Formats: sequence, structure tokens, C-alpha cells
Amino acid sequence: MQDLIERMPEKLRRLPELAYNVWWSWNAEAREIFRRLDYPLWRRTLHNPVLVLRQVSDENLLARARDASFLRRFNKVMMDYDRAMSNGHSWFHTTYPHLTRKTIAYFSFEFGLHSSLPIYSGGLGILAGDHAKEASDLGLPFVGIGFLYPQGYFRQHVPSHGWQEAIYDPIDMTNVPILPVHKEDGEEMRISVEMGGRLVHARIWRIQVGRVPLFLMDTDVPENQPWDRELSARLYSGDSEMRIRQEIMLGVGGVRLLHLLGYDPAVLHMNEGHSAFLLLEAVRERVAAGLSFEEACREVKARTIFTTHTPVPAGHDVFAFHLMDKYFYGYWDQLGISRGEFLSLGQHEEPWGAAFNMTVLALRMAGQFNGVSALHGQVSREMWHHVWPHVPVDEVPITSVTNGIHVPTWTAGEMRHIFNKYLGADWEDHHDDPVLWERLTETSDEELWQVHVALKAKLMSYLRSRARRSWVNGMCDPTEVLVSGTLLDPHALTIGFARRFATYKRASLLFSDMDRLRSILLDIHRPVQLIFAGKAHPADEPGKHLIQQVHGMAKSNQFGGRVAFVENYDMHSARYFKQGVDVWLNTPRRPREASGTSGMKASLNGIPNLSILDGWWVEGYNGANGWAIEDRQFDNVDEQDAHDAQAIYRLLEEEIVPLYYSQDRDGIPRGWVEVMREAIRSNAWRFSTRRMVKEYTTELYLKAMTAELLAEPV
Ligand SMILES: *Cc1c(COP(=O)(O)O)cnc(C)c1O
Repeated sequence: MQDLIERMPEKLRRLPELAYNVWWSWNAEAREIFRRLDYPLWRRTLHNPVLVLRQVSDENLLARARDASFLRRFNKVMMDYDRAMSNGHSWFHTTYPHLTRKTIAYFSFEFGLHSSLPIYSGGLGILAGDHAKEASDLGLPFVGIGFLYPQGYFRQHVPSHGWQEAIYDPIDMTNVPILPVHKEDGEEMRISVEMGGRLVHARIWRIQVGRVPLFLMDTDVPENQPWDRELSARLYSGDSEMRIRQEIMLGVGGVRLLHLLGYDPAVLHMNEGHSAFLLLEAVRERVAAGLSFEEACREVKARTIFTTHTPVPAGHDVFAFHLMDKYFYGYWDQLGISRGEFLSLGQHEEPWGAAFNMTVLALRMAGQFNGVSALHGQVSREMWHHVWPHVPVDEVPITSVTNGIHVPTWTAGEMRHIFNKYLGADWEDHHDDPVLWERLTETSDEELWQVHVALKAKLMSYLRSRARRSWVNGMCDPTEVLVSGTLLDPHALTIGFARRFATYKRASLLFSDMDRLRSILLDIHRPVQLIFAGKAHPADEPGKHLIQQVHGMAKSNQFGGRVAFVENYDMHSARYFKQGVDVWLNTPRRPREASGTSGMKASLNGIPNLSILDGWWVEGYNGANGWAIEDRQFDNVDEQDAHDAQAIYRLLEEEIVPLYYSQDRDGIPRGWVEVMREAIRSNAWRFSTRRMVKEYTTELYLKAMTAELLAEPV
């Protein structure tokens, strides 16, 4: 960053500081600064401020430094920035002034902050990123702990045969808002953890998320053995042994890292079970300080929170005992317990025999537990009842905090203008207040519809410009141009489906009755079109087959170009989809979608959901803000799929298509706009991380933070 500061004209000295805080990712005025610096470059870098500052010409910089209106904007942004970074007036500081010196440490395998930082794969990571952004907005004393994957998560290419290819582009650290952490003597900081008889070292990186620091470990350092350097190379790749080593680094290394940085966390929050080894390390520290194992466990319990995200047994991390022996041999001595006692902490009967289950470890040793929607909480209580065999199932101590999305991140610019106008200029400061959103009733149909039409046009032109770029660069053949949505019609009712291609999400459900689907899509007066996007996990063969199937539909001429598959779904393209389609489709196999968040993003931008009553939609659907697919449960999956597909066709034929196309003489579908308005009004405040992080604070963090106060000697 120093080299960037040095090349800045005096009046723009603080630009690099702004670029190196991903606060810009949720502040439109800050992004506008970089956009105005060099618009073609802004587009070419896919909205990456650090890269813009590296590549912008000196002429351009000097011109802006002399441009009074640019400087006025810039100074205003820096004022807002300084205010956002200072504490004192935040929600947390005014509500809990006595707790501001505590630290909440949040552990996650992935963080989705911006598309230029590909260290996330999907919903779990974006939830973590949104949680961190909201913790900054609310002023929580919060730090994040995770991994920096030097090769990140893959970029997806789907050639004309439809079989997904995974491309790993090494992240160039000088082009992203990440800085190495140094010790006082100027050396790079290292954290070391013993694994299988030798030390594995990690470098520490820092990403500044508003007020919140995120510390990321990366084992690609020269002093490591080649195999250990690979440890953090990529997100979710490798076998069970690679995984246990990553999880040891995250849990054990993460706790040590916090101390090295001078934190004494009052709360340790595990986002999913990947980091659950932190429980063992937190106990080990206390035993080393003189406590008994039982006393140490009690202390650790009081300050740990575990959030589970996975409603199916097979989705939880499990390690064979021989791996536990290999990596924890001798560790149990340091805890003051035997091997048998140690293994029993995570022992669980898997379909293939007893093994060490990370969720079970977390449920036995942490203090508070939650699922991520009301339904998921209930499913989790049933699923883990056997961990608490002596209590009735509804008293199993797993509560729920329904997920949310970071509203400033996911609101479309055009929609923000409407919110500014009708909700008041300061709407963002109290956007979790339902009363605020009642003011949307004052918006006119014309205005809402115009914004939507503009956003839809933007999506279509985005798809075309992507296709054109690939075509011009010689990176694709004509089929790919076609598949990627160039034949889509901006006036046709457009249904979006974009998410990870995991089989339970049933991306191909709509194709179960081809004739019926064809007659819906190809109706001459009332055409309908489908846009799909999503990556399959690189090891998920059935997921890749699903992509191939959907891709084949997009390629086939029988749908007349009314089906598209757009490759490389990420946070960048996600914004266009969730702001520009007409309906957001979600078809998980109930109850496997623990929450789902993409539908919340759509709803916030006035795009109604058409969804299975699963996850958040059980709470979100109110009969007037979208559509619920009739809920009937079958034991046989084929019957279930057939039923659900029929229910969707019926909804499309009888309700959705007619409502969309009943446009009045001005071309405005008044009934449809009413559903759009209701989607925003009823869901925006409720499924916000503002509501969610406040709930985590009052329901979970506070208890952990004050338990510690009580335990402290007076
Ligand atoms: C929100 C989001 C997700 C989560 O999608 P679900 O349908 O809720 O699983 C995944 N990927 C991206 C890029 C997202 O923005």
C-alpha cells in the first residue's frame, strides 16, 4: 500500500486507505470515486479499487486532483468513512458501553466479501462476509478468523460439451485489499502448529472490513514442506487428511493467532463445525495455566457458540480415528485425559462405524447452539436428539437465528434511489425497523416498475457484454455465445435460478415434463424464459451432471433460446441476477435448505420468490409477497419431484404468467407491482443481517460476554 500512497497527488493521498478497506464494497459513494477515476478501467478490473489505483495513469490522477467536483465528492466520502470507522455512536457502543472492550472472535472456513477476493464458495461464506460487514456497521467488538487461499475458489468454464471445468487463478496479493501482518520488529508474523510430528507455519494476512479486522492464515511460506505449503492452497479441495489438517490450522492455529495478536476473546463463535478444534485448544490453554480438565471445559463452554448449517447427517465433517491418532497423539496428555476420553468427545456412530464427528464435538463442548432458520432449528433438534438423550426433543438446546443479508451490499443502486426518496435519507441507519418500510406504500406503480425494467435491461446488457467479450477474445465457440443468454428477450417474463449446483437444490426440476414446459416458455403472447447459473463443487460428480443437463437444455433449439446457462456464478454476477430477473426460483428438497439467502437478496430488490416452503421462506412467505410451492411430503423422491414440478407448472400457468402479463394501457402490470412492493416491505427488514446480528448479540453473545464478567473476581 505504501507504494500506492507515494504515487498519489497530495490531495488524493488517502485514496489507497479507502481502497484497502472493503468498506467500499457496501458504500456506493465510495465506489463512485473509483468509477470516476477511470471508468473503462473500473469495468475492466471488475470493480476492483486496488487494481484501479495500480493501473490508473498519472495523467488521470493529476486531472482528478485538480477537479473541484471530484475532490468535493472524495472529501465527502472520506468524512463518511472517518465517521463510520470511529466508535462511540454505534448501536453496540450506545447499548452496551460496558462490553466494548470484550472481543467476539468469529471463525469461518470461508468469507465472501467481494468477487475480487475469491475465498468463498457459496452461501456459507457470503453469510460470514455479511455478518462481518454488519458487525462493523453495528460497532461490535468483532474479529474474523479464516484462511487465505492463494488460489482461492475456482473460476468456472463450461465449454460447449457442458462439462464444468475448474480453473484456479493464483490471487495476486498486490492487486487485492489484503496486507500481511507484521510483528513489532518489522518481520512478517507467523503462527505455527504441530501436525503429525512437525511444525506447520502460516503467514497472517489482514483484510479490513470497515471497523472489523479479518485475519487469514496462509501456509504457502518457504519454511514449510511442499505438502504443508499446499495446505491452504484452495478452498474445499483435497481428501479427508487435507481437511483435518486445515481444520487443525483453523481451530488450533486460530486460537493461538488471537493471543499472538493480543486478543483475549470473550466469545468464540464457530460458523459451522470446521473450526470446532478451537474448543480443544481453548481447553488446553487453560489446563496449561493450571485448571483441571473439568474446570477448563466449564470456562470454555461459557464463551463458545456453535452455528450449524447442515440439515443432513452426511454433510458434517467426520474423521477416522486413525487420523485423529496421527494428528492428536500426545495432545490428550496436554488436556489431562486419556486417548479414550479424548476420542469420546467427538465419537459418533456413522453409517460405516464409529468416527470423530466435528458437529458432535461442538455440541458436547460448546455452550450455545443455533440453526439458521426456525425450521432448521427444529430439524437440528431432532437430528441431534441423541446427544441429549435424557431431554424431550423440543428441549434439546439448539435454538435458531434466521439468516439475513447485508442490506447495503445487496441493494441495487437504482432501488437505493427509491429507498432514499421514500424511506428517508437515513433509512440505512435503521433499516431493521418494520415501520420504516410501511412508507413504501407511497411509491407509485410507475416508479417501481420503471426501476425494475431498468434493472432487467441492465442484466440483459450485462449478459450480452460478457458474451461479446468472450467471443472477441476467442475464448468460446458460437454455441457458448448462444447458451449464455444472447437470445433472451428483455420483455419476456424471466425466471432466475442461480446457486451452487448441489443435487438437493434440484436445478433441473423444471425439465421433468418437457412438453408442458415448452408450452409455457414458447407461448407466443406470453413467453417465459429461464436463466441458470452456478458452480458444482469440484468433487461433486452428480452436481456436474446437473450442470450438463441444464446446459444441454440451453443449447437445445427446442426452447428457442429461452433457456440460458451463464458460467462462473460469483458475487459479481449474483448482483445482476438478483436485481434483474422477474421471479426468483428455489426448489430445494425439503428440509435440506437450512436457510438459503439468495431469495432474500432478490426480495430486497422487489423480485418475488417462487419457492418450496423450506428454510427462510417458511417464515418469509405471507401469501402476498411471492409464491409457495404446495407443500406435500412423499417418501419416494421421484414422486416428490413429480409433484413439486407439477405444482410449479400450475402456479406458472394459473397465477404467475397471467399476473405478469396483465399490463394496463401504460404497460404496467399493477397486480404484479403490488407483489413486488409487498416482497420488499415484508422481507427487507426482517431478513437483514441488521436484525440477525442484533439477535446473535442479545440472544447469544451477551450471555457469553456477561458470563465471563460474573466469573471475574471483583
Ligand atoms: C447469496 C449467494 C449464495 C447463496 O445462495 P442460496 O441459493 O441461498 O444457496 C450463493 N452464491 C452467491 C454468489 C450468492 O450471492
